[in-house]
Amino acid sequence: MTGRSAGRVALVTGGARGIGAATAERLAEDGAAIAIGDLDGAGAERLAAEIAKRYGVPAFGCKANVALGEEVEHLVGEAAHRLGSLDILVNNAGITRDNLVHKMSEADFDDVLRVHLKGAFLCSRAAQREMVKRNWGRIINLSSASALGNRGQTNYSAAKAGLQGMARTLAIELGRFGITVNAVAPGFIDTEMTRATALRLGRDPEEYKAERAKAIPVGRAGVPRDVANLIAFLASEEASFVSGQVIYVAGGPRG
Ligand code: NAP
Repeated sequence: MTGRSAGRVALVTGGARGIGAATAERLAEDGAAIAIGDLDGAGAERLAAEIAKRYGVPAFGCKANVALGEEVEHLVGEAAHRLGSLDILVNNAGITRDNLVHKMSEADFDDVLRVHLKGAFLCSRAAQREMVKRNWGRIINLSSASALGNRGQTNYSAAKAGLQGMARTLAIELGRFGITVNAVAPGFIDTEMTRATALRLGRDPEEYKAERAKAIPVGRAGVPRDVANLIAFLASEEASFVSGQVIYVAGGPRG
């Protein structure tokens, strides 16, 4: 297998669909073996089988809730055991529970922070053990343009801003072990997540996307591969001097 990530093993959380799925495919295209953990275990298995067939790399998928320590330890252990190491972690799993602050429940606040922030912490803590052993690693957190503030997203924007701080801190702690840690912050990307947002607002998803695109300097909504392309670079050897950074992928200065 050739490609800039040949011989590496990548774990993508929430990789059964959307940005995570595009990232798993993109890293496989670069030659990495792929592990996918998702709440949707059947979807993760299905995509892993497709990736193995299409790109000729080892791949497996399984059910894993990133917010549960035991499931994360199992997922990381399986990735290292079945694929031989764990070199690249993409903390992508995410949910939204949007509401204006006066209507936001405590559960909706907790759930969003638990999946994004605690999930990324648990996965990074488990994965860095494998990376330190080999003195090489890449951790990439999915932040969001919402980290800069977004109406109806007190929980989500706090979590996404937190993921930026976590990336910077992990970059400082883990740099000496050959591990870089960065955050990518997408703007509006056309996925199930943004389609669900449109429906919740009572909007037609295609009309909503077209309206959002008008405010994006490059004149279109993002697609998952736009984000995956940047992640693939950050995961590569070429990016070894880029660490602790937040890179917006928003078709302009913000999404
Ligand atoms: P998506 O289509 O909703 O996909 C998210 C995936 O994460 C789903 O497969 C979901 O599984 C999985 N997931 C949710 N909770 C999980 C958990 N506790 N453990 C494991 N997997 C879990 O979302 P997306 O748009 O691709 O977003 C991917 C990431 O990018 C998220 O972190 C999101 O916040 C971020 N992002 C997205 C946008 C955008 O415009 N789309 C912009 C900025 C940032 P189920 O299908 O079973 O729920």
